[in-house]
Amino acid sequence: MTAPDTFDVVVVGAGGAGLAAAIEARAAGASVLLLEKNERPGGSTAWSIGSVTATGTPHQRRQGIVDSPADHWADMPGFAGGLADRDNAELRRVLCDEAPAAFQWLLDSGVRFMGPMPEPPHRQPRMHNVLPNSRSFIYHLERRARRAGVDLRCNAQVTRLLVEGGRVVGAEAEVGGVLHQFRSRGAVVLAAGDFTSGAPFKARFMGPQEAAVDGVNPTATGDGQRMAEALGARIVNGDLALGPELRFIAPARETLVRRLPPWRALANFMAWSLDHLPAALLRPFIMKFLTTALAPSAALFEAGAVLVNQRGERFGDESDRAAWRVPGQPGRQAWIVIDQRLAQRFSQWPDFVSTAPGIAYAYIPDYLRNRPDVTAQAPTLAALAAQLGMDPQALAQSARQGAQGPLGPGPYIALGPVRSVFVHSEGGLMVDLQHRVLDAQDRPIPGLYAAGSTGQGGLLLKGHGHHLAWAFVSGRRAGRLAAQQARTAPS
Ligand SMILES: Cc1cc2nc3c(=O)[nH]c(=O)nc-3n(C[C@H](O)[C@H](O)[C@H](O)COP(=O)(O)OP(=O)(O)OC[C@H]3O[C@@H](n4cnc5c(N)ncnc54)[C@H](O)[C@@H]3O)c2cc1C
Repeated sequence: MTAPDTFDVVVVGAGGAGLAAAIEARAAGASVLLLEKNERPGGSTAWSIGSVTATGTPHQRRQGIVDSPADHWADMPGFAGGLADRDNAELRRVLCDEAPAAFQWLLDSGVRFMGPMPEPPHRQPRMHNVLPNSRSFIYHLERRARRAGVDLRCNAQVTRLLVEGGRVVGAEAEVGGVLHQFRSRGAVVLAAGDFTSGAPFKARFMGPQEAAVDGVNPTATGDGQRMAEALGARIVNGDLALGPELRFIAPARETLVRRLPPWRALANFMAWSLDHLPAALLRPFIMKFLTTALAPSAALFEAGAVLVNQRGERFGDESDRAAWRVPGQPGRQAWIVIDQRLAQRFSQWPDFVSTAPGIAYAYIPDYLRNRPDVTAQAPTLAALAAQLGMDPQALAQSARQGAQGPLGPGPYIALGPVRSVFVHSEGGLMVDLQHRVLDAQDRPIPGLYAAGSTGQGGLLLKGHGHHLAWAFVSGRRAGRLAAQQARTAPS
């Protein structure tokens, strides 16, 4: 163990919320240490599609849209449906009121967006999509943090919080196999993401089948929730998540668009092109982006597509929680098999194979053209089975026994492999309106703040673009409030 380093504010996790917290704490005059367990910053923020939902944006104004945080707040329960009474309405107010400023702050940081896109029941278009991709958040915010003087250290996994006299006074982290203690004069901000890949949390809140399902982001293990629980904090809405759901595997090689550096000039050019160039010209470009790791539409199964495993066997009703059963199949993978009739049907609106909401829809021809790694085509089922290494008899039997009736004549297409994943989980720590982590009696744990997914506080973020909006809103606020603590803390 080395001698402890001391900072005003220590932030755990360099995703969207942690970077925002670090930058704002620094801007408020605090010395800031930002610890990231992975090789580089990013977290789920870098995995995201990149939609951010906000009102009062320059994009809304350019389109003459009259909107307000109050309307945004009133519309959000429409997404939550029967869960609406489990929402934290006060934190929702914070989110909606502060989203316009957070959006402008992202623009000031160099991040660029297209949109806004309509997404009912939002009464106005509010969903903005980042250009060229979600790495842009991290690229620009990391630069801003470093320029501001944030001490960002990667490969630094925080393992526990340091407590003295009932107050959190720092964090212990493993850096290159060596334990270091980092002291905080003001506060620690936990911004360590969600627990989509935290099997013990999923087993505890959701069940054993869910615990067997992977998260899209393999390092989202709920470390922040675990460390705060050890100090008496509590997790709310731990049973809620997006998933398990089927997703196509991501391309083995990054597509051109994903490899593009998120320069501001390029993003500006893309924004201009979307407004000024014909859609037909842009479509191939957008498709490269669209067909990354998206979900196949449930409509495929309702229309009669058959889901089979590596051996060519069906493993239950396709329309009944198939994603729960995929982890039990060989290789934890499955393939969607369709006949010629379905291939034709899913080649045009309104029958799409997948969508990146608000950006575009992908049809069978888009998949055949852009994702040869997840498409196989053959004139007969036997030939398809041979291509995919399946048992031809098992595949033929599966095609006869589809839940909606047998498949019709070929040629046949197999889409896959698909795997089953959690995209995000909603179980965050209970926090107050100042983002202070609360204990079982709703008393703030001194010196401890939480932001982003770790500090979700029971807020329901359904609809697109609310998770990222919360990461930036809560991160900025938690950073500023933690910096204030450093000014008032006894030395
Ligand atoms: C495929 C996908 C698509 C999505 N699309 C959207 C979208 O379009 N719009 C939207 O609003 N939301 C979307 N989401 C959800 C959204 O990305 C997340 O909710 C949001 O990014 C969470 O931000 P965060 O800063 O709280 O966590 P993260 O971005 O996950 O950051 C947490 C960071 O903490 C680090 N960390 C964790 N534990 C430790 C530790 N012990 N020590 C040090 N560091 C640690 C992690 O490595 C990570 O870098 C999507 C998610 C996924 C997976």
